[in-house]
Amino acid sequence: MAKVFYDEAPCKSVLNRVQGMWFKWSVNPYRGCVHSCHYCFARRFHAQLDLNPSDDFTSIIVVKTNAPDVIRLELSRPSWQREHVTIGTATDPYQPIEGKYRLTRGILEALRDYRTPTSLITKGTMIVRDADVLASLNRRAGATVCFSVTTLDKTLWERLEPGTPPPRQRLRARKRLVDAGVNAGVLMAPVVPNITDTYENMEEVAREAAAHGAQFFGAAPLRLQGGTKVHFMDWLDVTYPHLSRHYRQMYPGAYAPDRYHGQIESLTAALQQRYGFEGSRDEGIVQRANAGKQLQMAM
Ligand code: SF4
Repeated sequence: MAKVFYDEAPCKSVLNRVQGMWFKWSVNPYRGCVHSCHYCFARRFHAQLDLNPSDDFTSIIVVKTNAPDVIRLELSRPSWQREHVTIGTATDPYQPIEGKYRLTRGILEALRDYRTPTSLITKGTMIVRDADVLASLNRRAGATVCFSVTTLDKTLWERLEPGTPPPRQRLRARKRLVDAGVNAGVLMAPVVPNITDTYENMEEVAREAAAHGAQFFGAAPLRLQGGTKVHFMDWLDVTYPHLSRHYRQMYPGAYAPDRYHGQIESLTAALQQRYGFEGSRDEGIVQRANAGKQLQMAM
């Protein structure tokens, strides 16, 4: 892996207003992500910094060093309505450098103190460090953690998500959160066509999620936009060259065909029923799986 440069950049605001989603605000203490998932939809946002969506996204990480202090100011305003906040819509709030900066923990403490309902999306097992804050936030206002697990297959995981903690460790971390009193479930976000969309792969994730006490399970197909699409197709050409033509036909734009979305939706519904996740089939979960699809990013 390339040497990582951490750009300490104090920010003026932390809460980003979100349009068209079930949550009203998003928070991202970092930009860029060393977890390096090749399908990551946030890769394209690095262009806003005049950086590329490939190596730069995974090796130049912007750190909003004053984020906990700034969000406290924002939450303390009389105009704050305690609307739902989602953390980690653009980059993983528990990538390894969080161990040093503790920004996500500071933000969670502020949200707890201002009784603000929160959800969080991550692949990072470091989250168990903050089980105490998440549990108290859950008691005061509600806290839900979505663990992203796209496969349990070692080869697929190493190819698709080379910088992430092993998926079974994520499932164990999720269980520790539930045991501590936090709502937590599993999202297959994204389902990668012809790579992770086999019945066997999706069934294994759903089965193991259930075995580890997940409180919900959801899935949503890959979308490819802007720099994310450029990076992903370059990676696909090298890693799965036999799929290149198929993907170019399947993704003339950002989204897979409606027919494919329908297939994944049906399979997900069947797995939810089989493993007792029927109640998880609500709008919020589906939109969590699609997090970022309609976000108006202003990071
Ligand atoms: S962990 Fe999330 S934010 Fe980080 S690279 Fe993977 S998909 Fe992107």
